[in-house]
Amino acid sequence: MSKIFYKYNPQTLNYERVYPSTKQRIWAVCRQLCIGIVIGGCIFGIVTYAFDSPKDQQLKKDNKLLLTQYQILSKRIDENEKILEELQQKDDDLYRIMFNADPIPSSIRKPGIGGTNRYEHLLTVPNSNLVIATTAKLDMMTKQLYVQSNSYDELTELIKTKEERIKNVPAIMPLSSKQMKGISSGFGMRIHPIYGNARMHTGIDMNANPGTPIYATGNGTVESTGWDGGYGYAVVINHGFGYKTLYGHCKEMKVRAGQKVVRGQEIATVGSTGDATGPHVHYEVIVKGQFDNPAKYFFMDLTPEEYDRMLFEAENR
Ligand SMILES: [Zn+2]
Repeated sequence: MSKIFYKYNPQTLNYERVYPSTKQRIWAVCRQLCIGIVIGGCIFGIVTYAFDSPKDQQLKKDNKLLLTQYQILSKRIDENEKILEELQQKDDDLYRIMFNADPIPSSIRKPGIGGTNRYEHLLTVPNSNLVIATTAKLDMMTKQLYVQSNSYDELTELIKTKEERIKNVPAIMPLSSKQMKGISSGFGMRIHPIYGNARMHTGIDMNANPGTPIYATGNGTVESTGWDGGYGYAVVINHGFGYKTLYGHCKEMKVRAGQKVVRGQEIATVGSTGDATGPHVHYEVIVKGQFDNPAKYFFMDLTPEEYDRMLFEAENR
């Protein structure tokens, strides 16, 4: 919109129209142009700021969808984690106990994830907290599944050897119940009959007449026979699967080291050699290097009532 200028001419006594010079015209055009550019820029800025482009809108939509999918994934991992926990618990409390496998320490069941910088590369991704937490959960589950799978492999091996194991594990008394005259000392802390001080009694003492047969309580291989300090003449049988038995204070030994023996085979006779106050067999069951109460291993010989009574008698007294 151009303005029209008039100038008063005193000679003609008229108002006359004044036309702008070329310079003024150019200046006016430039000014209009600048104002136009500034206003246009402002409008463009406001519109861009307030409204997303279609591409931005699509990206935002995609991002939202991805985030939801991640959250669902994370929840499903949590659910699977619970199922895995149940499997682990059954494994520890049932299967591994049934097959006498060592418990798996929790440090192996729930291992650490490793260095703190492990997920550094994920810090730059959108929603990095969620992504890192989900990745860490998955990593942990992979490790736990590996441990669980190994545990099942171990149990499978134990099941395969179950038959042999049943024959080998000590499961009867070393003396015939008809010939045994009672238990003079049970398993546990007691006052030693010769030394008079409190000592751990690592087996049970079963009384019988001298010369009464002593039987192998499970299949195995004789590990050693001979004089063994306070035990006097003793026989040690290795039954495999972590089990060993020892028969002390023997009078005669009927087997030699390296010989295979079966459950119920006579291996020695009752005597009172070594630190013994009278004829008896000192019988030990050693499981993976630890002394166990031998009375727990008499189950094949006894009715449940007899077994209960035997356990009661074998408690140290
Ligand atoms: Zn003893």
